[in-house]
Amino acid sequence: MQNIQPDARDIRIYQKLGRVDAKSLETVDQLLLILPGKPSRTDFGKLPQGTKLQAAYRKHPDGATPAFSTSIQNKKQTLVVGGTIAADADTFEQLTLGRKLVAAAAGQKAGSLGICAVGFDTATQAGLMQSVLAAALAAGFRLPAYKSKPVPDTIKSIRLLGVDEKLDTARIEAEAKGNNLARWLTTLPPNYLDANNYADLARSLAKEHGWQFKRLGVKELEKLGCGAFLAVAQGNDNDSANMVRLRYRPGAKDATPDLSLVGKGIIFDTGGTNLKPFEFMLDMHGDMQGSAVALGTFLAISEMRLPIAVDCWLAITENRTGPNAYKSQDVVTAANGKTIQTVHTDAEGRMALADALVLASRDKPGIIFDYATLTGSCIRALTTRYSGVFTNRSELHPDLKRTGRNSGERVWPFPIGKEFMDDLKSDTADFLQCSPKGSGDHILAASLLAEFIENDVPWVHLDLAAGDNEGGLGHIASKFTGFGVRYTMSAILDENLFRARL
Ligand SMILES: [Zn+2]
Repeated sequence: MQNIQPDARDIRIYQKLGRVDAKSLETVDQLLLILPGKPSRTDFGKLPQGTKLQAAYRKHPDGATPAFSTSIQNKKQTLVVGGTIAADADTFEQLTLGRKLVAAAAGQKAGSLGICAVGFDTATQAGLMQSVLAAALAAGFRLPAYKSKPVPDTIKSIRLLGVDEKLDTARIEAEAKGNNLARWLTTLPPNYLDANNYADLARSLAKEHGWQFKRLGVKELEKLGCGAFLAVAQGNDNDSANMVRLRYRPGAKDATPDLSLVGKGIIFDTGGTNLKPFEFMLDMHGDMQGSAVALGTFLAISEMRLPIAVDCWLAITENRTGPNAYKSQDVVTAANGKTIQTVHTDAEGRMALADALVLASRDKPGIIFDYATLTGSCIRALTTRYSGVFTNRSELHPDLKRTGRNSGERVWPFPIGKEFMDDLKSDTADFLQCSPKGSGDHILAASLLAEFIENDVPWVHLDLAAGDNEGGLGHIASKFTGFGVRYTMSAILDENLFRARL
């Protein structure tokens, strides 16, 4: 079996309060310096060799990020990479600045990275430092690379310099761990990550973190009547498909879940019988990103030891071709007894999720969040900068949108509901899997999924259009973004959803 354990190296974080002096600057190999839109001489005066830095800044071309980079004459020849940002910039802009500054400092010798923001009030400084720290923790994480020569580290430690008030970095570190795990899993080659060792990795994480673990294999899923998920799985030439259920219970072991996280884990999506053409199949090892985001979010919650009971469901299988693969016009029965007439085998995500949502909602969680790289139409509607959000509680739309703005993982809500199900009317089953006409497929897919939520549990569905963005997004430099971990942590920690409980 291939080793798929993620990089376990921890980047140490140090903080130095008060003014940045020459001595603390000498502790870092590179310094990311964040300045206001129009930095003043007073701002530069707060830094050692401020005159030199101001001279370097003055020469900068308009609108460039970084604005400048220059070496300081000290023991380490510290490279200072400077960037400017408006004090009222939103989180996405802050994260993006972080990504660009870290990238400009990369390629220098590995070592200690400093972060410093001058010319801002204490609260703004804290937000900026945390955003840039998030970018540094993402960049410092080693993604899968199976090269004959070892890949060198880029960042060994991070020093936050000139801090007005000690920053609480626990949340940023937990979110980074979750995001890094999500990107690690999504980037793994599909011959490394198969359905069996994905479940095994979840089992070893469960052991390490004290989570309850259960693996539902094909036989158990047959007993539970998960015919929609199994229709997708039947094209595999082995019976490795499974659903993993993890439970985090900081209190009573048998507590009802406050939150359930559900993820689409199609570890390779060929499209099935309706085979994808090359250009659309190329990156389909990333079609399990939803499950990786669910697991990453679950890890972040556990790392922070949040006092809520959380379940996590990973629906893990492949969508392959073959004599046993499902096909158009097959009629299958999901775990809640509802029947689906297959239209297009590449719409497998909703089949896998339908059963996972039935099982998750039967435990009556306070709310369900699901994550899936589900539809091309969501990307056509939003590009890959935003993800689509859908819910069976439309009164949550303003909160869900605000969560995107606050977290820097931006979403846009779409409507769902019974009226859209008119497009999925079937003569032989309860519903069509998708519409042969294909318009608004992201809305139809979410409307279909709503039919598989039992007990009227509040439910939020993220169609991860922003899961794969060439050149990275926000604080993330890699093409797979792990979008959703920060978002959900903000939904839990900053919004009304759980405020009463925390
Ligand atoms: Zn597909």
